[in-house]
Amino acid sequence: MSDEEELSRLAKQIVVCTKCDLHRSRKRAVPGEGPTHAEIMFIGEGPGFHENEQGRPFVGASGKFLDQLLEQAGVTRADVWITNVVKCRPPGNRDPLPDEVETCTSNYLQHQIRIVDPSIIVTLGRFSMGLFFKGAKISQIHGQMRKVSDRFVIAMFHPAAALHQISLKPAIMADFARLPELLKEARAELGKSTPKEQKKKEDDPKQMNLF
Ligand code: URA
Repeated sequence: MSDEEELSRLAKQIVVCTKCDLHRSRKRAVPGEGPTHAEIMFIGEGPGFHENEQGRPFVGASGKFLDQLLEQAGVTRADVWITNVVKCRPPGNRDPLPDEVETCTSNYLQHQIRIVDPSIIVTLGRFSMGLFFKGAKISQIHGQMRKVSDRFVIAMFHPAAALHQISLKPAIMADFARLPELLKEARAELGKSTPKEQKKKEDDPKQMNLF
């Protein structure tokens, strides 16, 4: 099975998942979306009202702000993978419970990360940060790129937090603005080439065969 097929198989499982109680109140599960081998993966907390209606991640107010932040970093949604720690909306947007986080990440998120294999994971908010940096304080580590096994992870404030607490806005904007430079650094450290270079490498042997 190709990586693309594996991601779509997971998405099909997610939309009918009944492994935790969140399925009882959800309208639509939100598996996540993006190009199969995106270099950057964003992980939010969980679907909110609009995501639950549409089945897509970050389509409400915080999604609009995320789009602006991406644009500022010279990136579009089409370049990145976007998903959440839990794939179903917690009722009333409450925090996801530890067993919901454990069930959803062990069955779905961990597999999505393995398949997409991003160079950088950006965690948005404390729940996704907690998956990689236990007990860390976001105010202390936001914007810092750290190696976690064979990729890099950067914790950032959740866009919704910056919308509610305006004093956080300059920090989240500054962290996003550094993404292109951090991506270059991550590529160099991991010995990975840019998507353009990779494509050229894939195309070259075919061209060689022509001659
Ligand atoms: N907040 C999140 O954490 N994820 C979404 O998809 C939307 C809002």
